[in-house]
Amino acid sequence: MITILYPLCPSYSGSTLLSLLLGNQKGIYGAGELFIFSKHPSRVDALQKGRCSCNKLAYSSCPFWEKIERYLTEHYQLTLKTLSVESENEEELILHNKALFQAIQSVSGCSIIIDSSKIVSRFVQLRKAGFHIIPIRLFRKPQAVVHSWTKRDHDWWDVAHYYPSFYKAVAQSVADRNMLTMRYEKLANQPKVMVQKILDFIGLHDVVIDLDWAKKPYHHLKGNPMRFHKNSKIKVSEEWQSEVPLSQRFWIALLAFPVKVDRYWFYYFWERFVVLFTWKRY
Ligand SMILES: [Zn+2]
Repeated sequence: MITILYPLCPSYSGSTLLSLLLGNQKGIYGAGELFIFSKHPSRVDALQKGRCSCNKLAYSSCPFWEKIERYLTEHYQLTLKTLSVESENEEELILHNKALFQAIQSVSGCSIIIDSSKIVSRFVQLRKAGFHIIPIRLFRKPQAVVHSWTKRDHDWWDVAHYYPSFYKAVAQSVADRNMLTMRYEKLANQPKVMVQKILDFIGLHDVVIDLDWAKKPYHHLKGNPMRFHKNSKIKVSEEWQSEVPLSQRFWIALLAFPVKVDRYWFYYFWERFVVLFTWKRY
């Protein structure tokens, strides 16, 4: 049986780091953000930009993904280009995801696969379709997440709203969300402890943890540019502390407050409550 580990967090919360660290353990493969093999119009760009960590080239120029392609063609008469992993048609959704995960299992030799797509709806679809999928909720300080988005030309106010709304969607649709949770800051500072926590949870008790992910070739599609690094040193950026103005920090913390409570009704209540103070920006 294939097990899928699925980080749930907004972008720039450390899911690539988690995937690289976990994917370096025996029996686990971090394949990247697999939603890029979707026909969803908003994902087309991601497929073109989703470079493989091995050579910074598109999946079509990578020997690992070439083997995946061959497997798909031989066993399913499919190609990576024809895959529709977010298909509206349930039969097609099951077949195409099954084909992709089986191909990754066959080529990598690992039966635990990390899909770093992060998209909540994809998690829900896969679970509903019967895949054995385990959520890992990852939290990074909201100010740090907002700053990472702002640096890439997003509006801080929009991202400050997006942050709690992401976890609200998780609270609404993932009942076992609290089983595996971790803070990005703790993962970066104590990677061994956090990786051990996940391995224990999934029942891999005899694995000798190896955190030096950069020393062997791996094929992580899309994600943080750290996947191209040639050494495994983890650097936590504290840049936001000097860059994010105090007033912004206040609003970000206020909007993110329900994430601490993590009840769907409270997210809902808080959204309406803060509108009373923030209506000027609407
Ligand atoms: Zn590659």
